[in-house]
Amino acid sequence: MNADKLLFTPGPLTTSLTVKQAMLRDLGSRDEEFIAMVRSIRERLLAVAGVSQTDGFEAIPMQGSGTFGVESVISSVIPADGKLLALVNGAYGERIVQMAMRLKIPVVPMRCAENETHDLDALRHALKADGRITHVVVVHCETTTGVLNPIAAIGRIVSKAGRSFIVDAMSSFGAIPAEMKTAGVDFLISSANKCIEGVPGFAIVIAGRAALLTSRGSARSLSLDLLAQWEGLEKTGQFRYTPPTHALLAFDQALKELDAEGGVAGRAKRYQANHTVIARGMAELGFRAYVPAEKQAPIITAFHYPAHAQFSFEDFYRRLSDKGFVIYPGKLTKVDCFRIGNIGRLYEKDMEALLVAIRGVLGEMNVPVPVA
Ligand SMILES: *Cc1c(COP(=O)(O)O)cnc(C)c1O
Repeated sequence: MNADKLLFTPGPLTTSLTVKQAMLRDLGSRDEEFIAMVRSIRERLLAVAGVSQTDGFEAIPMQGSGTFGVESVISSVIPADGKLLALVNGAYGERIVQMAMRLKIPVVPMRCAENETHDLDALRHALKADGRITHVVVVHCETTTGVLNPIAAIGRIVSKAGRSFIVDAMSSFGAIPAEMKTAGVDFLISSANKCIEGVPGFAIVIAGRAALLTSRGSARSLSLDLLAQWEGLEKTGQFRYTPPTHALLAFDQALKELDAEGGVAGRAKRYQANHTVIARGMAELGFRAYVPAEKQAPIITAFHYPAHAQFSFEDFYRRLSDKGFVIYPGKLTKVDCFRIGNIGRLYEKDMEALLVAIRGVLGEMNVPVPVA
């Protein structure tokens, strides 16, 4: 039935047949059933984040891909006289800096190497040195490399300094605990089609209600106005503009499947098992991982290109794709890497099948194994 290629990418991803089947309906955006489903999705999202409305949190779906969710937060919650400190160690952190610049929001990027995490003392000092910084943003799992940033440790520093904390948890939410309370997160952003394994179409913001209400008057965009989106959903149960009804139907089913797998812990277990197969198997083939194992999230892994003259990534990619396996090019500026994602409806047997295909393709390309 499922003749599609397997997607070893960080989204869009391979989804279950049942998630795809859930979309075979046309629901009106004002339909009672649809409104009830959106309400239920919002409640269940808070549970995935480990918080509730009683704790002071709100879940806000926002039309568009994950980037639209990040831009919604960045453009909506930083006041006109605010300033953003962005912890950057990859392309998604750089994208947030770009957003702030486009929005004319003063931004201080704090960069470190793409296979490293930030010096926390440097963060502490930067916040002490610049009292105008109102918000700090970091990417949880930097999908550029799969490096996992320590949001709890960062968040404690941010809270202690009395600043607001924003986390791009796009590729971790649903599979790595969100630590909303321990990390003091005010705004966390994710997407329908990463670890929750829905289809693309909307982003998710988990917001502390107090921080959300404080943002009144700061929105720089009409359609991405986060507070207005929340108020619309609260007042009428409806989105302000056409909702992605089919993506929401798929997401409702994806949340049921997350529950059936044992929630965040259950999903983490499968992804960890997938990652272990890939990490071991690629090491056996001689590939070198870019991120040290202790900083690597079990989501996506970057591998150096082999140095062998016969290796060309384009050729490697196309041959794997012809066999039904879609991997992901690198996004690093300085190092030649490619990436293998292990999220989505993929199991250890799929990881093993990919490794067999990689070995076969290296043979076809006359690249000796183990590669170097
Ligand atoms: C996928 C991703 C995004 C958003 O990507 P879209 O293509 O807009 O969905 C943002 N940040 C991170 C860390 C991501 O992994």
